[in-house]
Amino acid sequence: MTGADAAHALGPATRTRFAPAPTGFLHLGHVANAIHVWGAARATGAAVLLRIEDHDRVRSRPEYDAGLLEDLAWLGFEADEGPVRQSDPDARHAYTEALERLRADGRVYGCDCTRSTFAAWSAARGRSWTGIGCPGGCRERGLDGPVLRVALGGGSETWMDGLVGPCADDVAPHGDLVARDRHGDWSYGFCVVVDDLRQGVDLVVRGRDLLHATPAQIRLATRLGRATPPTYLHHRLIRRPDGSKLSKSSGDTGVRDLRASGHSAEAVIGMAATAVGDVGDVGAITGGSAGRGR
Ligand SMILES: [Zn+2]
Repeated sequence: MTGADAAHALGPATRTRFAPAPTGFLHLGHVANAIHVWGAARATGAAVLLRIEDHDRVRSRPEYDAGLLEDLAWLGFEADEGPVRQSDPDARHAYTEALERLRADGRVYGCDCTRSTFAAWSAARGRSWTGIGCPGGCRERGLDGPVLRVALGGGSETWMDGLVGPCADDVAPHGDLVARDRHGDWSYGFCVVVDDLRQGVDLVVRGRDLLHATPAQIRLATRLGRATPPTYLHHRLIRRPDGSKLSKSSGDTGVRDLRASGHSAEAVIGMAATAVGDVGDVGAITGGSAGRGR
């Protein structure tokens, strides 16, 4: 089944998002994700929102931000809405407001655990830290920071993934969700839930490397008052022949490197589609016919 077929089977949707982080240039992994996102949007009638996920203020760079917009345009993927950014004032206000709501519910606590706290816990017990909370028992200590965690509760969440099938996993297998890190940056797992809720995103199409993050995101959304979680489609990832993940620094899969070496946009999209599989008819997705056909 293709991503578009899977999305179609799950019924109509209002809005999905393509959400790259400007911490590197676009590579074939992003292209594969874009094929799935625009394909699912077409199948469900959803609009595509372009959301630049620049929550990490240290690693995000303006040149990457500009570069990914340029590469997307060259490839022919046209978003219906955006770009919006996680650094926008209204976004930062929304994260603060969400955190304060959770704090009012008694769910936010400061944590001063470091790698060595986790290592000491493991050394004493002969296994890795697992479960809710944190190894330092920080929720009971009344700290202000430096890390802020959200106690989402234990147990698991279940969902029907459009491409993976029925899923169930622990909400906090490696401790409570980090909402803000020790540098004062909002975390990926916190931002996307607040964003998807406030932006009306009801279809999430992303790679399977993020499957493990889904239970905590479903639970956090519920804690923030979301009545129905988004529909999820987690597609396969492009791997190197040796099975390793593509990295943003690897020039042989970078869109602008392929472009510089004379590849056409169609050829680059074809390479990504072939590598990831299960994407259906990619020829109809780009060139301005994406999303709702605008
Ligand atoms: Zn802690």
